[in-house]
Amino acid sequence: MAAFLRSRFPIVLGLRARLTLSYLVFFAVLLAFLGFFFTQTLLSVYDTQTRAVLNDEWTTLKSYLKIEKGKPVWFYDRHDPEEAYIVERLRRIYLLAGADGKPLEVSKLYAELGVEPPEVIRQRIAELRRHPREPVWEIRHNHQKVPFILRSGLLVDEGKVFYLAIGRSLAESHRVVGEFQRNYALFMPLMIAAGILLGWVVSGRALRPLNEIATTAERITGSNLTAHIPLRGTHDELDRLIESFNRMIERLDSAFTQMRQFSTDVSHELRTPLTAIRGQLEVAMFTAQTPEQYREAIMNALEDVERLSRTVRALLLLSQAESGQLALQMQTLDLSQAVREILEQFEIAAEASKLRLTSSLEPDALITADRVQMERLISNLVSNAIKYTPEGGLVHVAVRRDSTEVCLEVEDTGEGIPAEHLPHIFDRFYRVPKRESTPERGLGLGLSFVAWIVRAHHGRIEVDSSVGQGSRFRVWLPAAPPQPAVAAESALAAR
Ligand code: ADP
Repeated sequence: MAAFLRSRFPIVLGLRARLTLSYLVFFAVLLAFLGFFFTQTLLSVYDTQTRAVLNDEWTTLKSYLKIEKGKPVWFYDRHDPEEAYIVERLRRIYLLAGADGKPLEVSKLYAELGVEPPEVIRQRIAELRRHPREPVWEIRHNHQKVPFILRSGLLVDEGKVFYLAIGRSLAESHRVVGEFQRNYALFMPLMIAAGILLGWVVSGRALRPLNEIATTAERITGSNLTAHIPLRGTHDELDRLIESFNRMIERLDSAFTQMRQFSTDVSHELRTPLTAIRGQLEVAMFTAQTPEQYREAIMNALEDVERLSRTVRALLLLSQAESGQLALQMQTLDLSQAVREILEQFEIAAEASKLRLTSSLEPDALITADRVQMERLISNLVSNAIKYTPEGGLVHVAVRRDSTEVCLEVEDTGEGIPAEHLPHIFDRFYRVPKRESTPERGLGLGLSFVAWIVRAHHGRIEVDSSVGQGSRFRVWLPAAPPQPAVAAESALAAR
């Protein structure tokens, strides 16, 4: 199957490879995001800085510029080289236009960027008049594709309005951002390679216990269930997985042991009557002479055959029940009514054993149950009580109910069950070793049935017993909601 899958889907990846791939994708996305974030931050910082510088330059330039008779005049100390340099620098990218939009003075570098036509300048002037505090910012490129940022605004001189624009090159900031991006692009593959390596190592370490579990699981067979994976002591998910795996092996071990025990018990149970039958038939064959002797041997053999087939029937039923093949016909049932009917059937048996069989049954003890199985449960408990109680004893059966549960109690004054046997009486074929007073040996399956029936009805069972004084079996079952008809009857009776 695995080979088939591999040949069908050759690129199915192992868990480790998939984990590493996840690391890789995560790293790549993170790095790309970081790169984008840094670039944007850098651009935004440069932009804010450049605009602040241009704002300063604008103010400085205004202080040197005067317009006389419609012509710009520059006021500065021409003998001061420093001042001359400042004004020269301010005028490098510069445009001054009149209110009609016609340029009065344009620097060479500004001209390279393209002077806006007069109608555009007029439009801008109109716009700037409406919002005098908001200069117009613009980015333009020259022929060499070098970016420039331009700031334009109004200049009012002696009541006349002029359009003034200055600018700065953005080449430097774009160069720095470009350099950063280039370096980052070189560094990214390195980081991704480191991510792959880290992912491969970390996932390898994380998955190692899984490989150990797989190796241990391969060692486990029906006859070798002692394998255990040592805990790593990290108390994490993998430790929990190892723990549940170990517990599963323990449960399997106990199930296998039970199964082996069961097969031993069954073969033992079947061998005893078979040996007896064989003995009786041999007697008939070799020693019997009269028809009565033959008859007696055959009768004895038949009795054992009967016992044998009872055991096989009971076993079959029990294994069907426990493997869930026995469908339960759930219906609402009055437990007191069911107990009353069963007790009637046991009256003769109780009389024959010289026992008193009494009961106290509360009415309307309603439960949801399978009638056949519930009758089997009651008969098993009552027949045990009668069987294990000597002459002159008492067997008392009670049914009580409260709002949530119904309780069936079967109490006897019989031989009791020694404490060391109590935990095992519900096991298949378990019988307390025979004592003088016990008349017949049972199959040891009755209480196994009882336990299964209680489980199947979501109830619970308890036993109290003291040797020589008697036993008390109590079964609690969930109470069924009152039936409309019964509820109406009870209401009538209450009136
Ligand atoms: P069995 O067919 O032997 O009665 P069960 O499964 O019904 O098998 O009971 C298991 C064992 O529990 C019996 O062998 C018996 O020793 C003990 N036991 C069951 N019920 C009683 C009881 N009421 N009093 C004393 N011993 C009991």
